[in-house]
Amino acid sequence: MKNILITGGAGYIGSHTCKALAQAGYNPITFDNLSAGHKHAVKWGPLEIGDIRDSEALSKVFKKYKTEAVIHFASKIVVSESVREPESYYDNNVNGTLSLLNVMQTHSINVIVFSSTAAVYGYPETNPIEESHPLLPINPYGETKLKCEELLEKYRDTHGINYIALRYFNAAGADPTSELREEHEPETHLIPLLLKAAKENKPFSLFGNDYKTPDGTCIRDYIHVTDLASAHIKSLEYLINNQRSQCLNLGTGKGYSVREVLEAAKKITSKKINEVISERREGDPDSLVAKADAAQKILDWHPQQSDLHNIIRTAWQ
Ligand code: UDP
Repeated sequence: MKNILITGGAGYIGSHTCKALAQAGYNPITFDNLSAGHKHAVKWGPLEIGDIRDSEALSKVFKKYKTEAVIHFASKIVVSESVREPESYYDNNVNGTLSLLNVMQTHSINVIVFSSTAAVYGYPETNPIEESHPLLPINPYGETKLKCEELLEKYRDTHGINYIALRYFNAAGADPTSELREEHEPETHLIPLLLKAAKENKPFSLFGNDYKTPDGTCIRDYIHVTDLASAHIKSLEYLINNQRSQCLNLGTGKGYSVREVLEAAKKITSKKINEVISERREGDPDSLVAKADAAQKILDWHPQQSDLHNIIRTAWQ
């Protein structure tokens, strides 16, 4: 069985990817410092506790397991926190990736799939957003992910490490058999917050209804976490067979407004959700929708679970 090192394998997308890897016949080795991930989410392979900035710890793991490739999720991801403390984002996300790439080079591991984000684009000039759109992030979180993409390009050119950087749009939903779920602390994402409001009969803050969209609320492209997981495996296999490094959007190409998601959540939960119209959240573009054809064509990847109702249903379940 091929060993794949999964940094951040105890997190939301990481743990769903570990499950998908195990189902596809791989042995996912989770490397996680448990700063945001959960021990209980690591069920499909060993857990090695460590920090990606600690090259000795990484090196030990590569010595212990003959590793074929790396999928790199470990990252700090809260945009507002990145604005308050950019230094910890640069340190964790950029220095951590640099350390990982150096240790990979020492151990002659030449394949990495990287967890990137649509935040590398900043305010979109056009929608849907193509991979060739200018890269102008508007917060330190997006900046650090862009720096990592640049590092990957350098390491490909100078050390022959091949990569696919997957630029996620809005990851959402949960494992359809309920073995895993989204567990962020603090939670900032729309769907888990809507479901929490439904469950606890508490008000839901809708951030702004005066955007330039048909119903005035922001439009986003929601992609099911299980579809994201399968895209990582397709990327891994593509790189092993094909060595063609690139950046790819992961989305569905279809956007939904916050109001549409809210209405769908009410329907699926059969609960009342009391919305309170609140101030706009800083840095929220009106609309972010992926041009998603490249990943579909290159990876032969086709989202199966990303119907909005299915996303909300699996999260609610
Ligand atoms: N949103 C909201 N209330 C919340 C959380 C999010 O109205 O409590 C809105 C947010 O302003 C954005 C959309 O929901 O327009 C999606 O936000 P999320 O944080 O889930 O993802 P993002 O697009 O920021 O990555």
